[in-house]
Amino acid sequence: MLLLLTSQNLQLEPILTRLLDLPVIVVDNFHESETDLLLEVEAWTDQTVCPRCGCVSSNLHQNHGYWVRDLPISNRAVRLKVNCRQVKCKFCNKPFSESLDFVDKRAKYTNRLAAEIVKQVKNSNVHLVD
Ligand SMILES: [Zn+2]
Repeated sequence: MLLLLTSQNLQLEPILTRLLDLPVIVVDNFHESETDLLLEVEAWTDQTVCPRCGCVSSNLHQNHGYWVRDLPISNRAVRLKVNCRQVKCKFCNKPFSESLDFVDKRAKYTNRLAAEIVKQVKNSNVHLVD
């Protein structure tokens, strides 16, 4: 079936969320150029577990956005602007950062992109020096 995207108001974020296929992550907004796709993403749940006491908390303290690279889509480089929530635990009363499964804290790449790079290097037969 041929699908024509004609409406400017068409909601592409749910489609991009499906394409991105990262657990619990939704695409909130996107920008594109000929070479790049920039996706603003966040976890769909606002509940996160306190690393100190293990209690579930959802008291938003502040938002913190950072950029990571992800696997390319249709030969376009993909960068994700991840909205990481800083939550204040209602029991310890201490702020902590939401932990997201697909990216390590302070990493510049998603885990699956890092795994793909490692795989490519292992499978590579390129010899730099003959
Ligand atoms: Zn706590």
